[in-house]
Amino acid sequence: MSLTMKVVIGMGLGIVLGLFFNLSGLNADGSFVNTYIVDGVFHVIGKMFVNALKMLVVPLVLFSLICGVCGIGNLNTLGRVGSKSFALYMLTTAIAITIAMTIALTTGIGEGMNLAGTANFTAKEAPPLTDVFINIIPSNPVKSMANGDMLPLIFFSILIGISMLMVGKKAKGFIEGAEIANEIMMKMVNIIMAAAPYAVFALIAKSMANLGLELLGQLVGYVLVLVGALFVHLFVTLMLILKMFSGLSPRLFLKKIRSAQVFAFSTASSNATIPVTLRAVTERMGVNNSVASFTVPFGATINMDGTAIMQGVATVFIANIYSADLGTAEYITVILMSVLASIGTAGVPGVGLIMLSMVFAQVGLPIEGIGLILGVDRLMDMIRTAVNVSGDAVVSTIVAKSEGKFDVDVYSDLDAGIVTNDDLHVDQGVEQELAEAIINTQNRS
Ligand code: ASP
Repeated sequence: MSLTMKVVIGMGLGIVLGLFFNLSGLNADGSFVNTYIVDGVFHVIGKMFVNALKMLVVPLVLFSLICGVCGIGNLNTLGRVGSKSFALYMLTTAIAITIAMTIALTTGIGEGMNLAGTANFTAKEAPPLTDVFINIIPSNPVKSMANGDMLPLIFFSILIGISMLMVGKKAKGFIEGAEIANEIMMKMVNIIMAAAPYAVFALIAKSMANLGLELLGQLVGYVLVLVGALFVHLFVTLMLILKMFSGLSPRLFLKKIRSAQVFAFSTASSNATIPVTLRAVTERMGVNNSVASFTVPFGATINMDGTAIMQGVATVFIANIYSADLGTAEYITVILMSVLASIGTAGVPGVGLIMLSMVFAQVGLPIEGIGLILGVDRLMDMIRTAVNVSGDAVVSTIVAKSEGKFDVDVYSDLDAGIVTNDDLHVDQGVEQELAEAIINTQNRS
């Protein structure tokens, strides 16, 4: 059985058990199940797994991007990859929110609902846009790495790569070292992925057990419209864009992106999913690392189609509940704001709500209205994060194909890059070989 299949089964079992705990009331506050299983075992396993994924992100991005820049080896191409992916990321996000608002406006969700008095939400501060630009350049790269800040890390890694190219021949050893380090990190991704079926089970069971099902009933209109819009974007818009710009088969794409989608769904974090997305687009789809090492972490940070869709639907829903009359100008502001907000915020759980409060402040909607959708947001976050990473992969594929940094044979091969037991295999006697290599080096020096 393939690993993805096992993970999907883990996910299914997690949904069933979590919902059972929730519906049967076994997960009540202070109960045994709640204290020791859901907030105990499941919480610990899930958190350990998310930590393990996050642990990989910074070194993986650093080394793969250094290799990527050296692999491209040409500043013009680098600039083209950067501007193409930026333009496509912004375009897909703008299309996503426009479609979402159109669907929400046509269905008229929230009209006539009387929930306004029950809302309660205080927004966390979002970073001002000026700071976002300033902070792209790290004053202390080690600190940025420690914080897991993606844009400064991307900037620093690209600069190292470019400088290595400038140093030329003398940097050869360093480049080879970075390539080996990158390979080692990719192996680590395989090791962590092998634990995924159990961890995904724990993560999903916990989320489902804590789900506000009564709220789900009350917000059924919002949830249906939002999930519908997310599906339209994933299966129609993104696939049309993929087909149009690259000519590649959407069916194959959807098969190969599945593992990244499942990880995104389980962790609700595009950032934590970077290792899996990177693996899926390079090894499963055939995108060259020189493109993917940039487009994937860049996309995880600035591209959030699913989040933009949530913002579009939530704006219409809450405006209707508060009977606020938004005109075309306000809707255009919503589109612009959410595209801009997506640049400044990282792909971590729940960040969409912070972005939403920026949008609300701009068009004058009551921020506490966000409290109305809070109870279902974790579930919506899981689904929209899967859409976010799919968007990152679509753009990576299109850009790579247009730059000739793409292997069609890998894309067409259904089994390419599937994690097997061989990926986790350690050769007999390898430690002996490594020890000999070290002794040889020492003798030579
Ligand atoms: N969790 C989302 C992500 O990581 C962001 C959000 O919508 O809150 O992409």
